[in-house]
Amino acid sequence: MASKIILLDEATINRIAAGEVIERPASVVKELVENSLDAGATRIEISVSGGGLESIKVTDDGSGMGAADAERAFERHATSKIRKFDDLMSLGTLGFRGEALASVAAVSDVELLTRSRDDDVGTAIVVHGGKVTKKGSAAREPGTTITVRKLFANVPARLKYMRTERTETSNIVDVVTRMALARPGVSFALGSATREIIRTNGDGNLLRAISGIFGRAYAQQMVPVSFRQGAIEVSGFAAKPSLTRSDAAHQSFFVNARHFSSQMVSGAVQEGYGSLVMKGRHPAVVLALSMPPSEVDVNVHPTKREVRFRDDVAVYDAVREAIRSAMALVDKTPAPSISSKAAPGARGTRAPALTTSGKASSSGAQAALPVRVEAVGKPSLAKGRAVLGQIMGTYILVQDGDSLLIVDQHAAHERIVFEGLKKGALSGKLEQKLLDARAIEADPRTMELVAEAVPALRAMGFDIEPFGGNAILVRGVPVLAGALEDPRRLSELVTEMGRIGRAKSADERRDELLHMVACHSAIRAGERLSQATMERVVVDIEALEAGSTCPHGRPTRISITRAELDRLFGRRG
Ligand code: ADP
Ligand code: MG
Repeated sequence: MASKIILLDEATINRIAAGEVIERPASVVKELVENSLDAGATRIEISVSGGGLESIKVTDDGSGMGAADAERAFERHATSKIRKFDDLMSLGTLGFRGEALASVAAVSDVELLTRSRDDDVGTAIVVHGGKVTKKGSAAREPGTTITVRKLFANVPARLKYMRTERTETSNIVDVVTRMALARPGVSFALGSATREIIRTNGDGNLLRAISGIFGRAYAQQMVPVSFRQGAIEVSGFAAKPSLTRSDAAHQSFFVNARHFSSQMVSGAVQEGYGSLVMKGRHPAVVLALSMPPSEVDVNVHPTKREVRFRDDVAVYDAVREAIRSAMALVDKTPAPSISSKAAPGARGTRAPALTTSGKASSSGAQAALPVRVEAVGKPSLAKGRAVLGQIMGTYILVQDGDSLLIVDQHAAHERIVFEGLKKGALSGKLEQKLLDARAIEADPRTMELVAEAVPALRAMGFDIEPFGGNAILVRGVPVLAGALEDPRRLSELVTEMGRIGRAKSADERRDELLHMVACHSAIRAGERLSQATMERVVVDIEALEAGSTCPHGRPTRISITRAELDRLFGRRG
């Protein structure tokens, strides 16, 4: 009987192994760029087409390879980075297994053009089906260019798992983003056939790298983080609370210059921001942790991105405190720009446009009933403070010792109501204002969502119930949201409730509801306020820990110091 066990041929072995290292085009980019970094490159240019499946080209100005090495580089376990097992302990490079190029070559067509600094002439090699099919000399500056074409063309099963060109390109962008953030001293350029996506100048300045990747406006919203606790150092940049996203895609973590992902560290960041950002929003951060190698086990599996810390608690505390102390500084030195516009990332609550007369120019801005502001905080203004008045019907001016405080009346009051309602909802202590029963009409979808929200709304102090097929009956509102006795505001609120996200946790939905209620019951831009109301708002917002931003993350106030004013007027202090 013929034997059933055979030895696999090399091409098959390589293709199987390739499956582990090369999952998708982004993995090829990662391996090639890591090789460039290992080769000491200072400039790396990447261009991709067809989401990387058509072609990926990486050019660097690194050490390059001599003719013999160039050919050997495609053999499995061919590496210049270690000689023996013990070398692993003192490894200073990103690669060492000598598997990447062999794997890439097993599942694509590869062209290599390289010249080492010691040679006068370069080497060109073509690899097809994992075998060198052409070799010759060619002119080139020292460095290496590797072009990968027709990725996975010979592995139809893998090709089936590929997503759209856009998704694969965006995975590549993520990979290059991480590496460019980890190595601000190296210049990275990433482009597709149609556009330049990333360009960093490689001058070593992390903020400039952030700017080259995410744009200037974005970089301007970041503040430095610099913190040390015991053996752990945390540095980098963190967004002001105004720059948040609904996902954590713009949170990048590095430990000892290696990228990693970690729920634990994300959680520490979130706790560091605390109530400055609303639940479900993620501020952008780029944090580099450094610690002695004995404190961290960097998983060297080529596709894994997890790390293990010896002391999770210490890392958690350090990250949380690093963010806290960075944000504490933001509070004390707000952007001095007087003309600062609403920050990007703010959603939803654009105040109505104002005409120069200070009257709201759009409908619905003037509530039929003035908002009565209920006291929730300390009784009176702190010493050294004086409310000077209201400007543009929108901002409250406060002299605060040697600074001028400008408070956004809507943003501030929104935060006050939000916090008050939240506290009340959690403690079960909320005062209700009784109204003559009123019915608010709503479409079927909104009705359904409001019906689902009824328990949460009751916990906040609403007396509310679905009534008939298309109406909601309201008999009471929370005292804090007393402005909702205005039927117009109430129906705006109900309409907005039709937008509550479904696929969310109960807590997230409650926060979203709190938001909507706060937004629709807060003082609006364009409303004239009495001196007493202004003082109330200023006192209450100051009393809140999260008072520096509104629940959407917009600032509630900015402060201009005397020194800044003096500078603007050209006075010398
Ligand atoms: P590893 O990086 O694990 O050593 P690779 O298969 O990724 O294995 O690369 C094999 C070898 O090819 C490397 O050890 C290195 O000597 C050489 N090499 C690959 N890419 C480059 C490059 N861009 N510049 C110089 N040498 C390179
Ligand atoms: Mg490598």
